[in-house]
This record gives sequence, structure tokens and C-alpha cells, in this order.
Amino acid sequence: MAERIDGKAIAAAVRARAAEDAAAFEKEYGRRPKLTVILVGEDPASQVYVRNKRRACEEAGILSETVLLPADTDEKTLLAEVARLNAEESTDGILVQLPLPAGIDEKRVIAAIAPETDVDCFHPVNVGKLFHPREATFLPCTPAGVMEMLRFTGIDPRGKRAVIVGRSDIVGKPLALLLLAADATVTVCHSKTRDLAALTREAEILVAAVGRAGFITADMVREGAVVIDVGINRTPDGKLCGDVDFASVEKKASYITPVPGGVGPMTVAMLLCNTLAAARARVFSGKQ
Ligand code: NAP
Repeated sequence: MAERIDGKAIAAAVRARAAEDAAAFEKEYGRRPKLTVILVGEDPASQVYVRNKRRACEEAGILSETVLLPADTDEKTLLAEVARLNAEESTDGILVQLPLPAGIDEKRVIAAIAPETDVDCFHPVNVGKLFHPREATFLPCTPAGVMEMLRFTGIDPRGKRAVIVGRSDIVGKPLALLLLAADATVTVCHSKTRDLAALTREAEILVAAVGRAGFITADMVREGAVVIDVGINRTPDGKLCGDVDFASVEKKASYITPVPGGVGPMTVAMLLCNTLAAARARVFSGKQ
């Protein structure tokens, strides 16, 4: 039976460390780090995500501002708002909550965020820096959260076969680079992959980032594998669930992350770390 990796507890430890770091920053520089989130429209899920980010900042002693823009905001107005925040001295981190309403080019908006404030790590400059993650100011929050869970649990990816199912820009691709930098041998699978189960069965570390409930079944998992479930889905009766068929895979894996309470809480925790990193980088660059 697999040991459960408790994402809530690990995230709480990361958040406590962020709170200590934020207090030390304030003591040294006489101000708190600050995150500004732009939310366009009233998508209920986005509102929940933004609220969670704000609460996490407040608990950690990081200032948090939410800029609310109406759903009919056009791209020009949003770009002007991003430019205003780029120039604002008190803002260390800027995050534009995605998805944006139809008609706004997300790539253009992300590219307009100053890379040194891009705490989501979506700007092309920051994505490029993932070729050498140890030299990067930011790591994207969900992949960084997965790496932190492995580290915290004492699982060293070095030399291990890691298989990621999913190649999105926000999870699969950046996580592949982080695992590679940690000396894993990485395979990235996607919807066109032939004989997926044969590949997943080779994985000593198996990451599911597909977005389909119960997609990874026990027959796709190697005995003793570490199984990380990034997926967030709803069961027909409305409950949260991951991409992994937890009940059956738990019997075969050595470690497994639950959903909820696994990777999810790590994402916000890592955002706090990125905001602190942005604040420190700003001070070191002399901009204060
Ligand atoms: P995405 O952009 O929809 O990407 C899904 C990936 O799964 C794609 O690469 C797709 O392949 C692949 N895929 C789909 N069907 C497949 C199949 N039958 N066989 C193999 N691969 C298949 O999703 P995402 O943004 O990465 O998110 C993935 C999941 O993680 C979602 O449930 C999302 O809600 C969750 N998520 C959680 C967090 C968190 O904080 N825990 C953060 C982000 C995302 P193609 O590229 O070929 O289409």
C-alpha cells in the first residue's frame, strides 16, 4: 500500500517558511513584498483561485492587491493596466489570472508583463531560463510544487525513469525540464503517444497531467512507482478527483499524491516563494 504524500502539510511548511522570509524581508528593507493579481471578468473558478492567492499572501505577510476589470475589458485597456503595474514601484509580482475573456490574446498579455515581475513564470524570457532552472529567478508554480513534494518526501529523481503524461506549457513541458535538471531520464507522453501503458509501466516516477478523471489505472503503473497526480477533475456527483484511479493505484505504488490535498495546495505555496524571489531580485537590482 502506497504512502500518501500530504500536499497540504508540505504546502503549510512552505507557506510557513515564506512567512518567515517575508518577515525577514520587511525587517531588512522596511516594506513588505507585494503581489498584484489582475482578474478580468467574473468567472467563478477564477474568483476562487484569486481569493485563495490573496488569503495565502495575507497569511504569509505578503501584501496583495487585486485589480478587478470588467468582462468586456479590451486588450488595449488590459495592456495599459499591465504597463501601469510594471512601472509601479511597490509591486514585486504581477499575475494575470487565466483564462482571459475571448478576444484578448493571452500570449500578448503575458509577454507584456515585465519578466522580473512574472511570478507565474509564463513570460517567454522566464520560460527560456528553464533550460537552466538553477539560474532562474522563478520556476512555474505547479511543476515547482511537484519538485518540492519529491524533495520534501526524500525522493531523489537522479537516475530514475520519469514519465509525464501531458505536455502542456504550464505543467508537462516545464516539469520535464525540472526533472531533467534533477538528473531523471524523462519521457513526455501526450494524446498521440502510441502504446502509452507500455511507457507508463516503465516509470519509477509517474506524473499524470491530463485532465481526465481516473485516466491512469493500476495496469498502467509499475509496482513501487511514485505516482504524482496533477489532475483536477470533477466526478459526475461533483466531487474533486485527479487523473489517477486512486483506489487501485494506491495498492501498487510506493508513494501517491491524493486529490484533493496533493499537488493543488503546492501551487499557491510556490507562488508565495516566487513573489519573495521577485521582491529580493528587485532590491538586489537597486530598484527597491
Ligand atoms: P491541458 O493543457 O489540457 O493538457 C492536457 C495534456 O494531456 C495534453 O498534453 C494532452 O495531449 C494530454 N492528453 C489528453 N488526452 C490524452 C490521452 N488520451 N493520452 C495521453 N495524453 C493525453 O491540461 P493542463 O493545463 O496541463 O492540466 C492538466 C490537468 O492538471 C487538469 O486537470 C488541470 O486542471 C490540472 N492542473 C492542476 C494544477 C494544480 O495546481 N494542481 C495546475 C494546473 C493544471 P495533447 O498535447 O496531444 O493534446
